[in-house]
Amino acid sequence: MKENARRLLFTNCTVWTGDVGSAAAREVLVEGSRIASVAPVVAADRKQGAVVVDCGGATLMPGLVDGHSHLSFLEKADVVDTGFVPVEEHTLQTMHNARRVLLGGFTSCVGASSAKPRLDIVIRNEIKAGRIPGPRLLASTPEITVTGGLGDERLLHMYRESFAVVIDGAEDIRRYVRTMSREGCDIIKLNISGNQTVPNAPPTATIMTDAEIEAAVTTAHAYGKRVMSHARSSESVQLSLKHGIEFLDHCEFADDHTIDMLEEHREQVFLAPAFGLLHNTLYEAARWGITPEKAAAWGLPEQVESCANVYRELRKRGLRVLIGGDYGFAWTPHGTNARDLDHFVKWFGYTPEEALVCGTINGAMAMRMDNEIGRVRDGYLADLIIVRGRPHEDVSCLSTENIFVVLKEGEPHGDFAWRISCATPGEPVALI
Ligand SMILES: [Zn+2]
Repeated sequence: MKENARRLLFTNCTVWTGDVGSAAAREVLVEGSRIASVAPVVAADRKQGAVVVDCGGATLMPGLVDGHSHLSFLEKADVVDTGFVPVEEHTLQTMHNARRVLLGGFTSCVGASSAKPRLDIVIRNEIKAGRIPGPRLLASTPEITVTGGLGDERLLHMYRESFAVVIDGAEDIRRYVRTMSREGCDIIKLNISGNQTVPNAPPTATIMTDAEIEAAVTTAHAYGKRVMSHARSSESVQLSLKHGIEFLDHCEFADDHTIDMLEEHREQVFLAPAFGLLHNTLYEAARWGITPEKAAAWGLPEQVESCANVYRELRKRGLRVLIGGDYGFAWTPHGTNARDLDHFVKWFGYTPEEALVCGTINGAMAMRMDNEIGRVRDGYLADLIIVRGRPHEDVSCLSTENIFVVLKEGEPHGDFAWRISCATPGEPVALI
């Protein structure tokens, strides 16, 4: 421990460590950026001089990991509106979103596309440098899509932009992957299947070619980057597996054979259903013009049902599923990302603790940091949240209003940072 590192002792709390069945009354000592001790009672000599935080019976648990994150999405109802935001405003609004997601309990995020090429990259770098608050981020490229695919909002004789880059042909895709690797992205995002919102490429269509995917993935891997696919159709899932793509999103139209294939690759892949957007588009988007009739015309009720069926099966087969529901659209605001946990319980059949594992330990593995985050354990980085309620019994308590404390690498954020700075030496800080 550094001589003057901040020392915080959390008392009067239930600690859920990240492991199923672990909830118990514990004290947690944080020294600097790391967890120094987790014990029924931390030894007196170790906690001497620490700032004592009385958690009032709340639950302390690992910070959450969003496995499908779009920090640069600006909560627009029409993605074309995102395309027309100048880069300066867009950067500042992304910074604002990063803080909201952090205060919503997320200390890490896997980028699932950046709305302009370097937004994820610069926000990741500024967060890492400690100059702005936000979750630790794996920076993604924009969605690489082919003509007529998800994100190609162009129309003949009209100038329109969106959140994607439209590229056709293996060589041009290879060049773009090289460019973005040079710029420092962590993840290459490919839109392999269509989408319910795309007029002539439905979610069951597979529109990126084998050669284009092969070019993207081999190039990405040559630079040490990982690849994420927008893969709703069975064929797009199969192509993702064939080429060694690490992150597969959606997959809700995977047929039985494709589910078997996913199981065979269970050690290599992370799956993100991104169910929050499907759910809210069907049930909570009427005021943005997505009426039940429009949702039905898109086939959303069947898509939601299919997604629930596929992930019920994938849960039984023990695949590594991540939470993260495409937050950043008008009807999926940033900061509400933890709602996905409740969807996992209600729609996919996860127990509350199993859902939390998807949001903590599975997420930590996706970040390749499972020996440092995702658990409350001695020596791990102090990525911790404290929430009013018992999330290991009812995950619906995980909302910004109920999260009193967000600590990332021991650094307090939000109101808690202010309360700690006002603490009187020797007097406990009461959270409730
Ligand atoms: Zn997405």
